[in-house]
Amino acid sequence: MIKQLAENNLTQTGTLKQEYLDFIDTLKTQGFKGDLNPDYANRVVLSTDNSIYQILPQGVLYPRNIDDLVLIAKLSNESQFKDIVLSPRGGGTGTNGQSLTDGLVVDISRHMNTILEINEEERWVRVQTGVVKDQLNKALKPYGLFFAPELSTSNRATIGGMINTDASGQGSVLYGKTRDHVLELNSVFLDGTEWLSKPISDDELAQIKQRDDRVGEAHRIADQIFNEQQALIEAKFPKLNRCLTGYDLAHIRDDSGQFNLNSILCGAEGSLAFITEAKLNVLPIPKFSALVNIQYGSFNDALRDAKDLMDWNPTSIETVDSKVLNLAMNDIIWDTVATYYPKTTGPEGEEQQIAGINLVEYTGDDEAELDAKLTKLTAHLDSISGSEGKSFAYTIAKGAGEIGKIWTMRKKAV
Ligand SMILES: Cc1cc2nc3c(=O)[nH]c(=O)nc-3n(C[C@H](O)[C@H](O)[C@H](O)COP(=O)(O)OP(=O)(O)OC[C@H]3O[C@@H](n4cnc5c(N)ncnc54)[C@H](O)[C@@H]3O)c2cc1C
Repeated sequence: MIKQLAENNLTQTGTLKQEYLDFIDTLKTQGFKGDLNPDYANRVVLSTDNSIYQILPQGVLYPRNIDDLVLIAKLSNESQFKDIVLSPRGGGTGTNGQSLTDGLVVDISRHMNTILEINEEERWVRVQTGVVKDQLNKALKPYGLFFAPELSTSNRATIGGMINTDASGQGSVLYGKTRDHVLELNSVFLDGTEWLSKPISDDELAQIKQRDDRVGEAHRIADQIFNEQQALIEAKFPKLNRCLTGYDLAHIRDDSGQFNLNSILCGAEGSLAFITEAKLNVLPIPKFSALVNIQYGSFNDALRDAKDLMDWNPTSIETVDSKVLNLAMNDIIWDTVATYYPKTTGPEGEEQQIAGINLVEYTGDDEAELDAKLTKLTAHLDSISGSEGKSFAYTIAKGAGEIGKIWTMRKKAV
């Protein structure tokens, strides 16, 4: 990577612009408490994320607290710094280069990563947005609770990144997307205004729209677009479960008709505000779980069958291709799960190669109910086993410990 950057003539100091150095110096004199890093090492490290792109920033800012973010935002609003470009960053696991910039990366994950409050009774948490998803679920486990939106990068993706990409993955059929679990957001807008957003009444909206800051402007514009373009939004927005990253104008009013700016902030990819804190809905950990490992001779067969398997009402289905599988097989972690992928032979004694898997998970609080669902699925699998385009074998893992090993294998492989 470094070689590539050097070949692109990105020399150690060559690209640093004076206005950025001035911006960083001014932050220092105005009492910025976090770290200010225009050095080459920090810039190179944060010039990549999980995408194919590389963009060398002018520097990296690591805010220590909300005041630091207010300072950054206010200063960037002053006329001599109007060309300064800022990009918030969490764990840097985005696959589209969303956190990359040739301006300043504002990395919220280094210092702003505290779980502020867990309310077991009312089932919510309040966190700083640099908190990592696995960190949160580890803290929630003793309370028998979990934050439901899931993704393979859960050991490094932050809540801020999840909110800004409206992340969802395994289990989304049942649990929905990150936005479905956001109760309130604390943000710093680009004029330095701090704001707590949650569903509001029309009277509150009317009052907020009178404000002459960015918050007032955001509410005015969002409300105007919704009122004027409602028919077009309804006609054009695709009706998808996953919806889309971007400004979700279709849901700016919730089911009860309340205006909720969080519909726009979630999925905004850091383009509207620094999200500093979030109050999130959390759920009880299901008491029982089972994972059916269904094996196929081709990835396409697994992919096609995943759609049919939805008829058996699982909590989640994850299709794994042979590339991921081969990576896992060559990793030390394979020993912990190999028992679920035994060698099998076909009708003429030939060894059957696994080239695709569907991981079909069931969860619930009633063991008998869960077993009944499993019985129905396995009866179906037995009846079609070996048919054209169908699976040739399956195994079942039961309990959080065993199932956890398989998900760890899957996550490690990607
Ligand atoms: C192997 C792999 C598997 C993945 N699986 C999934 C999946 O199943 N589902 C899924 O949804 N995604 C998935 N992703 C994508 C990625 O992990 C998610 O988008 C994740 O939520 C990003 O979190 P992050 O903390 O790494 O954010 P970053 O990549 O750092 O940032 C993502 C965006 O959020 C913005 N941002 C981050 N923090 C803040 C903040 N506090 N305030 C304002 N803006 C902010 C950034 O500017 C950027 O636009 C996967 C990625 C990889 C590499």
